[in-house]
Amino acid sequence: MWGAIERLGRDGRTGGYLRDAWSSADLELREWFRQEAARRGLDVREDRNGNLWAWWGDPSGRPGVVTGSHLDSVRQGGAFDGPLGIVSAFAALDVLAARGFEPGRPLGIACFTDEEGARFGVPCMGSRLLTGVLDPDRARGLTDDEGDSMAEVLRRAGRDPAVLGRDPETLGHVGVFVELHVEQGRELVHTGDPVGVASAIWPHGRWRFDFHGQANHAGTTRLADRDDPTLPFARTVLHARELAERAGVVATFGKLRVSPGNANAVPGLVSAWLDARGGDEGAVRALVAELTAFSGAEVSTESWTPVVDFDAVLRDRLAAVAGAALARPAAAPALPTGAGHDAGILAAAGVPSAMVFVRNPTGISHSPEEHAEESDCRLGVTALAAVLEDLCRS
Ligand SMILES: [Zn+2]
Repeated sequence: MWGAIERLGRDGRTGGYLRDAWSSADLELREWFRQEAARRGLDVREDRNGNLWAWWGDPSGRPGVVTGSHLDSVRQGGAFDGPLGIVSAFAALDVLAARGFEPGRPLGIACFTDEEGARFGVPCMGSRLLTGVLDPDRARGLTDDEGDSMAEVLRRAGRDPAVLGRDPETLGHVGVFVELHVEQGRELVHTGDPVGVASAIWPHGRWRFDFHGQANHAGTTRLADRDDPTLPFARTVLHARELAERAGVVATFGKLRVSPGNANAVPGLVSAWLDARGGDEGAVRALVAELTAFSGAEVSTESWTPVVDFDAVLRDRLAAVAGAALARPAAAPALPTGAGHDAGILAAAGVPSAMVFVRNPTGISHSPEEHAEESDCRLGVTALAAVLEDLCRS
């Protein structure tokens, strides 16, 4: 399966992936998903929001056990974030089928659309629309870098944007959801475990800081006469780092727009995007409040996602089953994550959800350097198959 998809959307220069939602690479990956499902005799459906579902058994009578992830990537992303969960899902079903296992309840694989939000800026688009936390009008009106609205992009891909939105029938098919994902950090390297489970997703948000000044000539404007917004911006970046260190959270200015953007002009406006996350919601909010006051900038909230605590009973059950399946002396460790996932969106919507993480030796993700050893990936499949088998019994 890796051989079939590794070239799709890969930038030959960097080795990074460009798999924007509804791009030609994404459409090819979706077709690959359909073929893999069909090859196994699974029934494939695409829901109103573009999410794909492959079913072993009919979920209309009784909600099923669902696993899966996403196939889109951030720009210049790695091979594992998303696809590892999909490939492992098919592989786990193969393990179960080879054992002659007959699921006692429907077993499904989900491929969520536009998890990364690389194209339209809103992550977990497919699951947010499905659960109704994202207004379909807002989604339809989002634009990509070309200025094309999501509605236009969907129409070009042969989909009907009018039907986007909350889909209780499809959601009702999901009795429990387990997402396998490459770890985005190095906790499992520290604990020495190939596989772990998620305890929580950190609260996280995105804020826009607009620093206003006065654009002017870089040669003729005396220093004393300048109103240069890069100065408070620079102080704010340094202060964000200090505050984050003190509070034990993370804060990042990863996107920046300088206007007018001429090398020979004092800028008139600096727009900078702050991403802040941490285990303690109060600490994240306090950092943003203090930074807002310090910066003197005009600050607006672009998104905020509260903490997601995964179902503790399900988490412990998964950890025990995964630990036993890998013949480990103890349950798989539970770790919090600073990254958002579709599993978090489903959990917030009341679907019992859990995550299985596979060790990432460098901890790097959202980069071509993202990696997981094949032996760890195989252990991930073993653990996932055991978890699915266990959940199908109840
Ligand atoms: Zn992901």
